[in-house]
Amino acid sequence: MCGIAGIFLSKEGNAADLISLSLFSQQHRGQESCGIAYVDGDRIKLHKGMGLVKEVLSVDLLKGIKSRIAIGHVRYPTQGGTTLENSQPHLIETLRGPIYAVSSNGDLINYHILRKEMERIGVYLSTKNDGELIGKFLVHRLEKVEREMVRAISELFTVFLGAYSTVFLQPDLLVGFRDPFGFRPMFLGEIEGGYAITSETCAMDVLRAKNVREIEPAEIVIVSDRGVESFRPNVKNLRKGRGHFAHCIFEMIYFARPDSYIFGEYVYKFRKKIGEILATYDDFKADCVIPVPDSSNFIAQGYAEKSGIPFEMGLIRNHYVGRTFIKPIQSFRDESVKQKFNPLKDFFKGKKVVLVDDSIVRGTTLRKIVRMIKGAGAREIHVRIGSPPVKFPCYYGIDTPTFEELVANQMSVSDIERYIEADSLKYFKREDFKLLVPNVNDFCCACFDGNYPVGSVDKKEVEELRNLKHSI
Ligand code: SF4
Repeated sequence: MCGIAGIFLSKEGNAADLISLSLFSQQHRGQESCGIAYVDGDRIKLHKGMGLVKEVLSVDLLKGIKSRIAIGHVRYPTQGGTTLENSQPHLIETLRGPIYAVSSNGDLINYHILRKEMERIGVYLSTKNDGELIGKFLVHRLEKVEREMVRAISELFTVFLGAYSTVFLQPDLLVGFRDPFGFRPMFLGEIEGGYAITSETCAMDVLRAKNVREIEPAEIVIVSDRGVESFRPNVKNLRKGRGHFAHCIFEMIYFARPDSYIFGEYVYKFRKKIGEILATYDDFKADCVIPVPDSSNFIAQGYAEKSGIPFEMGLIRNHYVGRTFIKPIQSFRDESVKQKFNPLKDFFKGKKVVLVDDSIVRGTTLRKIVRMIKGAGAREIHVRIGSPPVKFPCYYGIDTPTFEELVANQMSVSDIERYIEADSLKYFKREDFKLLVPNVNDFCCACFDGNYPVGSVDKKEVEELRNLKHSI
């Protein structure tokens, strides 16, 4: 996961400030590094760093930038190390100077093949980041082959397999495009004096954008002084007969902000519906329903409303720790759990608790939370999970890298119940996704069912591609 943003203004102005604002409201999509690339005359300048938006894009930095077109990125590392060079945007030098930049959200599953091919034709890559590969491919096509943006991106659609919601910058235009399956969200909106492209609508709200719409899978949007032009190359053959999109259902369950509207639904409503459906699996009374805050809040609320069991905020989250799942190193992750959650004192004593979480990936966090609440005096803890067991790694931009790390791949539900020391454990049922969305076939659910929509339906082959990618 990552977050992207692009701003185009008709006159020189505060594009950099607006990028900073929109990245800040998408900070939940990546906390490791961030950056901005902006037009300065007929060149593009870059500023990026490790850390949060408010630290890297400081007030002092921004007040010195006057620009009308800019792109930005918040990074959550999946491929490539946690280094500054792998952070985005990427600035691309040419013989005419730095006149292109790119930011992308997602992962390519055929990265290693594409990289080798690019190197074979003499294109040098300085990072191990998918965004750089996308940018350099486009620049190669624009400078040496078809020299025309729509044709270059249409060509990219045919050879780049995986997830990519991308913004591309030139001194006179902003381009946004999304892979043919539309894994990651991406929006276009009108702002005062121009246009914005963001990953989520919560960023559009901050920009006070109007006429916000989703950029469609395989749509190319070019924003220039001519206004917005949209192109939709025919990509039906690229979907291998599926004829469907593959929106990441985990965006709805966990990643996106609840105040965003993505894939045709309000995220908070989607999560409340999950909770309501989860509540129908039970027929018992408890003293309270407690979310593991924050991403489970609405799931727990839905459960509470449907079951009639009171909703309580029994666990308090320290918001300055960040999302545990996002931290790239296990030792940091473990330490973060203790710092992140604290049970209310004198609240849990003797209570039968329904504890709601959005998912179980490794199981380590939830085990600690269950122990914490038992330690605070709870009599029983019944864990309810707002997604099916995560059994398969994601290859499209979410950091669940190996089968071994996924507890549901290693243990049965009853073993996990024992492992996390819960009195009972129930997951949302895979077949009940159809109750949440009009057409479940438009969603990727591969981390639950192993049905990978892009590259191959053979998960072994995808794993091999992924391993090769790691070895570059
Ligand atoms: S595999 Fe899971 S996390 Fe990855 S895109 Fe598909 S649904 Fe989302």
